Amino acid sequence: MLAALYGIGGAGASHSGWHEWLAARVHGEIVDATGVAVRMAPMDADVALLAIEAARRAVLDHVGVGSVTTVPLRDATGRVLARPVVNDVDYPPFDKAMMDGYAVRAADVATACAAAPAMLRVVGQVGAGHDAAGHVGLGEAVQINTGAPVPPGADAVVPVENTELSADGSAVAVSVAVPAGKHIDARAKYVAAGSAVLSPGVRMAAGQIAAAAAAGAATVSVYARPRVAYLVTGDELVDVSERPRGPQIRNSNGPMLSSLICQAGGEPIDLGVVGDDRAALADRVREGLTADVLCISGGISMGAFDFVPEVLESCGVRTVFRKVAIKPGKPVLFGVCENGARVFGLPGNPSSGFVCFWLLVRPVLAALLGLGDQVPIPRTARLAGTCGANGNRQSYAPALLRTDEDGASVAERLDWHGSGDPFGLSRANAFIVRRPDALAAASGDCVAIIPLESL
Ligand code: AMP
Ligand code: MG
Repeated sequence: MLAALYGIGGAGASHSGWHEWLAARVHGEIVDATGVAVRMAPMDADVALLAIEAARRAVLDHVGVGSVTTVPLRDATGRVLARPVVNDVDYPPFDKAMMDGYAVRAADVATACAAAPAMLRVVGQVGAGHDAAGHVGLGEAVQINTGAPVPPGADAVVPVENTELSADGSAVAVSVAVPAGKHIDARAKYVAAGSAVLSPGVRMAAGQIAAAAAAGAATVSVYARPRVAYLVTGDELVDVSERPRGPQIRNSNGPMLSSLICQAGGEPIDLGVVGDDRAALADRVREGLTADVLCISGGISMGAFDFVPEVLESCGVRTVFRKVAIKPGKPVLFGVCENGARVFGLPGNPSSGFVCFWLLVRPVLAALLGLGDQVPIPRTARLAGTCGANGNRQSYAPALLRTDEDGASVAERLDWHGSGDPFGLSRANAFIVRRPDALAAASGDCVAIIPLESL
């Protein structure tokens, strides 16, 4: 009964997240990951306005683990390991000299000093990449280079700086004592064959790539990039390359979504533009439902030509929610298809679509990529400019975040014309987040911000 009251799809209500949410809703608030109470906005007709945190939890309840793929190591930067990387050989694979100098028996140089150097016979030479020739016996030394295998018999390396070779090269004077093992990295000192050097969940960057390479992993198992199909709807839309005439406007959401998907680690699949036409929309939606995630821009509100919700239903998509208490971006639909595809109906207004993608779609892609909980957690910054008193929806305004001379974060409130403005976000690198009913804020006040960082 509660589920019906709040406009939640039947099966969605069976998720534990929903029970939690419903229980919390009854008590009037939800506490998010940051420990901040996320208050619910008042009821809007018979469809609930979900608080953003509850909406996000509802979405993430429908996201399992991502699929796994194998990629060449050189393409693995930024990817998350799904399987461990196991070292196939000892590292180092042999007792390795760490200095240029002479491989010696430590006992032979135990009393050596500048005043009384130890005189050793030079019986050979070994460079990196070559097998150690011969054996170092009593009173003998082998000239050795960094990275070369230490010859049998030797148990230490004396750096060349502490030696003097005789004119004919047959003897070396050693002027320091070195303990056994000095300047030698023993076989398997770092990692033994068969040990895991990288664990699942690790994100690959240069340091991890080096470890995987040393361990012999020419390919690695990582979470696959989610395939994200996107389609934009509206009879008014023309391509970027065209000049809009009369009632037309350019399709800026298509390119925006493609970029947002890339920035969130997804693989964009462009399904193009569809007019406000049920049959054409249904055809294209069915195509999109073969992807991991489908994003549809426009056509989800209450207008006579907003066919997306009914078309989704006819294509087997169960709606989980249709409205979220955020500004901009209140009309945003999330549904799940019988085949497991997750569907987002994003508002056509450019800034609204951007905000909804950031807050709801991006965390899904992060989860599928193995990045775990990438829910944007607000930080704080000093406000430059002003914010009026907030309405009853949590709001997101474009901001330019910078660091001032004292190292403090400053968020400059940027001018924009609201949800329909495709230019307002072009200077932004953050959102200023304002809680429902927050009081007006003045310059210098502390405000919550979410930086716009790529995954
Ligand atoms: P809708 O969500 O379909 O009601 O559209 C809301 C507003 O967003 C309308 O003013 C549309 O013209 C505009 N809009 C819809 N789709 C796009 C798009 N792809 N690019 C730019 N603006 C759009
Ligand atoms: Mg429309």
